[in-house]
Amino acid sequence: MLAFWGQVPEKISIVVPCFNEEAVLPILIERIMAAAPAWGADYEIICVDDGSRDRTWPLLLVQCQRDPRWRALSFARNFGHQTAVSAGLHFATGEAVVVIDADLQDPPEAVTLLLAQWRAGFEVVFARRKKRQDPLLKRILAWGFYRLLQKMTPLPMAQDAGDFCLLDRKVVAVIRALPERSRYLRGLRTWCGFRQTAVEFDRGERAAGVPQYTFKKSFKLAMDGLFSFSAAPLRLATYLGLWVSGFAFLGVVFTLAQKLFASEFAKIGLAPGAGFPTIVISVLFLGGVQLICLGILGEYIGRIYEEVKGRPLWILRDSAGIVPPPE
Ligand code: UDP
Ligand code: MG
Repeated sequence: MLAFWGQVPEKISIVVPCFNEEAVLPILIERIMAAAPAWGADYEIICVDDGSRDRTWPLLLVQCQRDPRWRALSFARNFGHQTAVSAGLHFATGEAVVVIDADLQDPPEAVTLLLAQWRAGFEVVFARRKKRQDPLLKRILAWGFYRLLQKMTPLPMAQDAGDFCLLDRKVVAVIRALPERSRYLRGLRTWCGFRQTAVEFDRGERAAGVPQYTFKKSFKLAMDGLFSFSAAPLRLATYLGLWVSGFAFLGVVFTLAQKLFASEFAKIGLAPGAGFPTIVISVLFLGGVQLICLGILGEYIGRIYEEVKGRPLWILRDSAGIVPPPE
C-alpha cells in the first residue's frame, strides 16, 4: 500500500526464536496481534523453530497460512537461541528488527517503547530489565556475569540488558555480515556502535511452558560472551605465574633463614619441620594453576577450531512465507 504522498510505509520485522514452545505459542500469537496495531507500521513476524520436538512447527505453519504477515523457519536440529535469532535477522526485511522471546517475558506491548526511540533517531534500542522474576541463583549469577564481563572488555557492555531489542536495518546488515560462529548477540550489537539507547521494563514470568535455557546453555552463552569479547583471560596465566613465582621466592628466602637461624626460629615456634605437606600443597597448587591456564588456552583454541571449519551457522529443514524461499 502506498501512502498518500507516494512514500512506502515503514515496515518492521519481529524475530521470535522458538524452541519447544507449543504451550506458549497460542498466547504469543494473540498478544502480538493485539499489540501490533499500536506499532503504527506494516510488519512481519518471523518465528524461528530451533529444532523443536513438540508441536511448535505445525502450529507455526497454521498461523503462517492464516496470516501472510507471519513467516517461519525450521532448523534441522537445535542450534541454540543465538543462532535462531541470527537466522531471523538474516531473513528479516523490515527497516527495523525487534528480537523478542517467545515466552512473553519480553512483552510485545513494550515494542512501542522501542519503536519510539528508533523513530527519535536511535539505531539500537535495547530493553534493560528493571526487575527479574528469575530464580535467585540465576539472578545472582547473571548479576556477577554482567559485572565481570564489563571489567574484562573495553566495550561498554550494557548491564542487565537481554536480547530483547530493536536494531535498525543498518545494524542488522553489519551483524548479518559477521561470519563468527560463537555468537553473543548482545556483545555484537554493542560492538557495532551506532547510536544506542536503553528503555527500562519489568521482565515478567514465562507465560506458559518450561524454560528452554538450561543451566548448561546459559553457561555456554556466558562463556561465549567472555571469550568472544575479551582476551583478558589469556593474560591470567602471566599474572598467576608472576604471583606464584613471587610466593615461591618468599618461600625460598624464608626456608634459607630458617636453616641459618634455626635456634631463633625454634624460640618463636617456627622450627624447620619435615617438608612433606609444603611439597604436596605447592605441587597441587601449581598443578591447579597450570590446568586453569591450559583450560583457558583450550577455550580460545576451541573457538579458533570452530571458526576455521567454516560450517554454516544453521541448517534449514523447512520454511513458510519467506520470499524467495531459502534453498
Ligand atoms: N530458545 C531457543 N533455542 C534454545 C533455547 C531457547 O530458540 O535452545 C528460545 C526460547 O524458545 C525462547 C528464548 O530462546 O523464546 C528464551 O528462552 P527461555 O525463555 O527458555 O530462556 P530464559 O528466559 O529462561 O533465559
Ligand atoms: Mg524466558
